[in-house]
Amino acid sequence: QLGLRGIVTAALDARLLMQFAADMRHEEIVAEPDLILAPDLAQRFWSFVARRCASEPVSRIVGSREFYGREFKVTPAVLDPRADTETLIAAALPLARGKCRILDLGTGSGAIIVTLLAERPEASGVASDASEAALGVARVNAEAQGVSARLRLLRADWFDGIEGRFDLIVSNPPYIASAEIAGLAIDVRGFDPLAALDGGVDGLGAYRRIAAGAPGYLMPKGHVLVEIGAGQEGDVRRLFEAQGLVSGGQAFDLGGHVRCLAFGQP
Ligand code: GLN
Repeated sequence: QLGLRGIVTAALDARLLMQFAADMRHEEIVAEPDLILAPDLAQRFWSFVARRCASEPVSRIVGSREFYGREFKVTPAVLDPRADTETLIAAALPLARGKCRILDLGTGSGAIIVTLLAERPEASGVASDASEAALGVARVNAEAQGVSARLRLLRADWFDGIEGRFDLIVSNPPYIASAEIAGLAIDVRGFDPLAALDGGVDGLGAYRRIAAGAPGYLMPKGHVLVEIGAGQEGDVRRLFEAQGLVSGGQAFDLGGHVRCLAFGQP
């Protein structure tokens, strides 16, 4: 059914949905290929297949997604963490040495800050989000990865109410222009929260806020790393340079697009 719907990952999706329906791990399914599912579990499985056929992403159905090798809880309140954002993680890790202090703006599921703190046991962080529900998801993810003692979660509109200076400021902000949202694929526009996608009239609203605040929150040798959308490279660079920061390189995603920009104090 999934294949007929044109879902290219049909076999993988079917297995993941089966594992979730039967509460089994991949190894268990492989070890018992002839297992007969109890009728209630089979019914559960087919209800998941129907949702997937209606374009709901597997991560939304099973309520979790793997990001940088760790499992993250995902609810309707947060953006589904994307493999593209692993580009930002790979770019940030070399900059996050020792007792680094990290600020994550618009943390959503917490995928970015929780991953960085898990990879860097001496680092500590603050993560903000405008959504209380999102912060609840980030808290669960921080606890599951054992980093909650090093992370402060704060309800905030970008920098408002945040204090102190940071070695590293990271963000994957909403960056789709408002008018383009209706044209996004149904698995995005139908399931990711609008507030996590909508970057305002030109898609750059969040970058303006981050660029304006960053100089006042960065340590002297600190860096800002932001994820960007296709074609935003020049505009986002100009916004940060206009605030006196200097461009410090870029990182490409697996599709070959510039996905992450770095800026530093002069
Ligand atoms: N920081 C979160 C992530 O990268 C949420 C980003 C967002 O909602 N735009 O997954």
